[in-house]
Amino acid sequence: MQLNELKAVDYLNMVKSREISVEEVVRDIFQQIDRIEHTLKAYLFINLEEALSEAKKMDRRIKDNDIPPLAGLPVAIKDNICIKGMETTCASRILKGFIPPYDATVTSRIKDAGAIIIGKTNLDEFSMGSTTKNSAFQVTLNPWDINRVPGGSSGGSAVTVASHETLIALGTDTGGSVRVPASFCGIVGIKPTYGRISRYGVISSSSSLDQVGILSKGVKDTAMLMNIISGYDPLDSTSSHISVPDFLLSCTGEGIKDLKFAVPKEFFKQELNIEVKERVADSLNKILKLGGEIEEISLPNLEYALSAYSIIAMAEASSNLAKFDGIQYGLRMEGSGDLEDMYLKTRSEGFGSEVKRRLILGTYFLSSGHYEDYYLKAKKIRNLIRKDFENIFQKYDLIIGPTTPIPPFEIEERIDNQLTMLLADTYTIPVNLAGLPALSINCGFTSKERLPVGLQIIGGPFQEEKMLRVAYNLEQELKEINTVEPNLLF
Ligand code: GLN
Repeated sequence: MQLNELKAVDYLNMVKSREISVEEVVRDIFQQIDRIEHTLKAYLFINLEEALSEAKKMDRRIKDNDIPPLAGLPVAIKDNICIKGMETTCASRILKGFIPPYDATVTSRIKDAGAIIIGKTNLDEFSMGSTTKNSAFQVTLNPWDINRVPGGSSGGSAVTVASHETLIALGTDTGGSVRVPASFCGIVGIKPTYGRISRYGVISSSSSLDQVGILSKGVKDTAMLMNIISGYDPLDSTSSHISVPDFLLSCTGEGIKDLKFAVPKEFFKQELNIEVKERVADSLNKILKLGGEIEEISLPNLEYALSAYSIIAMAEASSNLAKFDGIQYGLRMEGSGDLEDMYLKTRSEGFGSEVKRRLILGTYFLSSGHYEDYYLKAKKIRNLIRKDFENIFQKYDLIIGPTTPIPPFEIEERIDNQLTMLLADTYTIPVNLAGLPALSINCGFTSKERLPVGLQIIGGPFQEEKMLRVAYNLEQELKEINTVEPNLLF
């Protein structure tokens, strides 16, 4: 086994007991990157020299018995999260050349804990998409089948983890952008409760929906990193004061006999692929076998979620992205000398077509005369959806179902119809609208093409511990599935 194939918690144990050095692991990671990155194209920036020098420094610290919690853990970071001194582009031409003068809070927390940043990962431009095809710079491929998309928008982060080009990664999730690529790449992806993790220094797409998440090779790895990055941050007024438990305690093999699960019937409609349905049914049987109780329920307003999401996400994006005008950040296209011309040229050159489409629609939804018909209505629907979930969580501990209705699709498919593409997020978007935590875990493969299938576990507000407990128990049950690896010999 190569050291880059280690899980994060195993790495930490081995480094701390001095069985392996940080440098050896980081070198194995760069060797892997050298071997496969030209095919997969998951990284936008590779931090080779700095990472190696950090690794050497960390080895010296460990030798001196100064061992921080993340002791040199290699982490990849989605390129919409700021790292001081490292170009951050959101995979958009408009931010080319933008070097943040500060770290995002998640970045400074993992750096302070001793992590090493391996690089910045590709995404759909400004997190708008479900494929990671929609980047201004490159198309990232799925390591399970390079003719297919890895999911998005945190597809770069998911691919670096699934193909062992890092040990763990950070992404962001506005409507499914951590869970969808986790599902398509056969790994674990968590979107915590809105407010659980600081968004300071994370370039906003839709502020009321965005949340930082973790992509990892195992549930314990997720719990371990949650412990480091969660918790109140005075720099983010939407971050929560709720105390942070030790999430690793949820991964102790304590059973799930006390838990009641709700399965929404709306998640099992005709658009659900038959093989996804079968794999999810297998997992439900495992839950029953473990002593969990399962009942079918209904979330009646779910059918309006996609429309409400689209309006809210676009409206917020149109406001958030107004600041990219050539003055302060990244690209500037000098026009005829007049300021307005410069704005126009910069924005028309800098943004890709999907971003432009959303900004134009978002501006329309917020304009006077249309605001009430669109934005206000969408917010009302959002409240109804939130109430639907609240009702369920009064009686049940968790909601469970597929993460996506379909397995990873081919790169050429679903390009023209944005709404069809959004269907990939049918089961993930309602969770962001309600601000709830959810996790995707691999629950098997399609029979012919051997493509990963994800199971989504949704919790009530700040109920990540229960989600992690179930995911950990299922992971034990699904051990033989979880040791299957993509064939990386392209
Ligand atoms: N695919 C969804 C969209 O295009 C969600 C993206 C995300 O979570 N950032 O908006």
